[in-house]
Amino acid sequence: MLHKVELPYTRFLSPDGQPLGDLPAWSDDFNLLTRLYRQMVLTRLFDQKAVALQRTGRIGTYAPTLGQEAIGVAIGSLMHAEDVLIPYYRDTAVQLMRGVRMEEILLYWGGDERGSDFADPAVAQDFPICVPIATQALHACGVASAFKIRGEHRVAVTTCGDGGTSKGDFLEALNVAGAWQLPVVFVINNNQWAISVPRRIQCGAPTLAQKAMGAGFHGEQVDGNDILAVYDRVQAALERARHGKGPVLLECLSYRLGDHTTADDATRYRSAGEVKQAWLEEPIKRLQRFMAGQGVWNEGREQALVSECQGLVQQAVDNFEAAGMQAPESVIDYVYAQWPQALAEQREEFLERVARRTGGSSDE
Ligand SMILES: [Mg+2]
Repeated sequence: MLHKVELPYTRFLSPDGQPLGDLPAWSDDFNLLTRLYRQMVLTRLFDQKAVALQRTGRIGTYAPTLGQEAIGVAIGSLMHAEDVLIPYYRDTAVQLMRGVRMEEILLYWGGDERGSDFADPAVAQDFPICVPIATQALHACGVASAFKIRGEHRVAVTTCGDGGTSKGDFLEALNVAGAWQLPVVFVINNNQWAISVPRRIQCGAPTLAQKAMGAGFHGEQVDGNDILAVYDRVQAALERARHGKGPVLLECLSYRLGDHTTADDATRYRSAGEVKQAWLEEPIKRLQRFMAGQGVWNEGREQALVSECQGLVQQAVDNFEAAGMQAPESVIDYVYAQWPQALAEQREEFLERVARRTGGSSDE
């Protein structure tokens, strides 16, 4: 017999930015709202530029954040400096807020190891982007275990997509997090598509958040396009984990307005009508309309903000272009602390070939 599970679902603003009921007290903090809005706009402009750089062959594959900016911005604005982010590959918004530089994100997607070696010491403890699906959830449990053993009030925050929740790694991570009551927050960006697989056939359960129940801890859903709601629930989740009350699984319902990555073409498997409908729910317009309704936003502020953010993005592109090529052997250098014999030999051979090639030899 199937049991219907009732889980909390939070939404404060309608898609057109109207309050649906009582709002949290902090929602009249204009400085906070402006900070959240600015970061979402910056992320979107950066995203557009990154896609353009890929289309013109200046970076490799890129995973756009389009339409999902509220999730990362809420997480990034609430994590403490000493917390640790264990991200997946669609986390531009949160990485930028943690202190990763835009040019480092471009270096990463350009295949350059320096993109995972963050210059800002404030973000040195965060993990680099994880591309294998959901393995980062287990890394987060390792980090959270260390916090617990040391008695530190820190939280490990990890993210994944809806597709990632089907992986064994994800379910094993939930299990150990619940069994050991770890200070970890799992955030699912349920953007409705796992490349070409829609959410409705990804999993038989009506929600992804209820997977937490099988592991014995709290799970809930939130409107991932309503940044007030995401902010409220991420804040509560961090609080809970930080004070020894166990892990939390937060399922943020959003929509992937762009392709899965620049190597994908979503028009081949989903309808234009569905995407058009999803645009009506997107997070930036929603907060903009709310702020305009409160009388704290107008066209002049909008233009000044967009212009400022475009300048920052262009500066980052210039820095990225000026970084130059990394040494070819860097593809091997950071795989192990000490190279196994076979890899050390390959590296030597590689260096010899590079030297021959740069020396003008034509024997290859
Ligand atoms: Mg997805």
